[in-house]
Amino acid sequence: MFLQDKPYRDFSDYLSARFPYKVQKISINAGFTCPNRDGSKGLGGCTYCNNQSFSPGYGKPTKTITEQMADGIQFFSRKYPEMKYLAYFQSYTNTYDSIASLTDKYEEALTHPGVVGLIVGTRPDCMPEELLDYFEALSKKTFLLIEYGVESTLNRTLERVNRQHSFEESAAMIRKTAERGITVGAHMILGLPGESEEEILSHADRLSELPLTTVKLHQLQIIRYTAMAREYKLLPESFRLFEADEYVDLCVSFAERLHPDIHIERFTSQSPKRLLIAPDWGMKNYEMTARIIKRFVERKSWQGKEYPYSR
Ligand code: SF4
Repeated sequence: MFLQDKPYRDFSDYLSARFPYKVQKISINAGFTCPNRDGSKGLGGCTYCNNQSFSPGYGKPTKTITEQMADGIQFFSRKYPEMKYLAYFQSYTNTYDSIASLTDKYEEALTHPGVVGLIVGTRPDCMPEELLDYFEALSKKTFLLIEYGVESTLNRTLERVNRQHSFEESAAMIRKTAERGITVGAHMILGLPGESEEEILSHADRLSELPLTTVKLHQLQIIRYTAMAREYKLLPESFRLFEADEYVDLCVSFAERLHPDIHIERFTSQSPKRLLIAPDWGMKNYEMTARIIKRFVERKSWQGKEYPYSR
């Protein structure tokens, strides 16, 4: 059994073990773009990614990083004055710029009072050697987590959704990053089109072979103004969208096959209603998580129950 008697290794337990105070992530939009949009890797972007967010001017931050951190901290510190913060570079590809511009932005976040670390979300094909050197040095001084968008372990799927990188590239970059002593996470979408339930669960087997500290999961959501929304309208039968109850079981089965040492940061995500086409479960993330925990108990199960071997 894991900390606090949860049936899975929760990322929040990892943070509690690492920090003697509560920590909260503050999401930052640093104004970066994406190489899968501007032609340097691909054009058009991943099919599930909202095109609107790449229109000129759209999504550009109107506030500096310092102002975004201050806003976030002000919100949480009213209730938890002792809380500390992790700056989460979340939007788009947060390693896609000149090294000087990138490190300036990371440092701006890190020097903000109350910030005790950095989480950087990016693509596995967008991590130059020089930046890895910087991150290696940084990780010796402060908390750092690099979160790679892996999304699927099947190249057939990655091609279909126009990711413009392979699973082998993800695996190699996760290994390379971890070899530098940097904490690494993987982001996955469960239920991408064309994947059978067994194929979705097999992602847990492949991820378990990698030196990952965290995985972050969410269900496939069809978002307005995306290439996938058009595909869904034309060929709805080629999508297997999960009902909430089915997805709860899928998460338990996924966790059963996942290495018991990997922390699970999240199982679900809920896009804003105005952007969401399907599936609309009408439930908050915490309600889904509570149902998943309940289902673990009903199935007398836990993370790693079906994990066959040790790393
Ligand atoms: S999902 Fe990420 S990598 Fe894909 S187009 Fe959108 S920002 Fe780029």
